[in-house]
Amino acid sequence: MAERPAAADTAPELVPFFESCSVGRLTIPRCVACGEYRWPPRPLCLLCGSSLFEWHEVASYGRVYSWTTTHRSPSVDFAGTVPFTIVVVTLESAANVRMVGRLVSPSPGVETDLSGLSAGARVRARFERLESPHVNVAWELVRPDTEG
Ligand SMILES: [Zn+2]
Repeated sequence: MAERPAAADTAPELVPFFESCSVGRLTIPRCVACGEYRWPPRPLCLLCGSSLFEWHEVASYGRVYSWTTTHRSPSVDFAGTVPFTIVVVTLESAANVRMVGRLVSPSPGVETDLSGLSAGARVRARFERLESPHVNVAWELVRPDTEG
């Protein structure tokens, strides 16, 4: 069996994001001139064209915009977890930001319960340490009894 290629080095514009994830915080670059969040990070603001930005911590909650289930792992980090569901999440505190991540169970080792998955379902970020150098953002459904 062919060996998978090693993960590429982290893009410099994403280093602050992964550093904040490693301490359990979600941060997004925000335009200094107009306040618009930029995700994914890019050199110029799409709204006003400014190149100035700062990293801001945002609340780790969002709403499901869309989802799909994959049966093939895109990386060795997830090879033992297929099939799994990937969600596109609109952040509650930065409505122009949509992030992509795995939908995971709130209890590690327990199969993810998809019964509450729907467009608009509330999710919260969970920070997963992977075999690669990154801590990645995954999402778990917020159920009424776990509302935080
Ligand atoms: Zn701007």
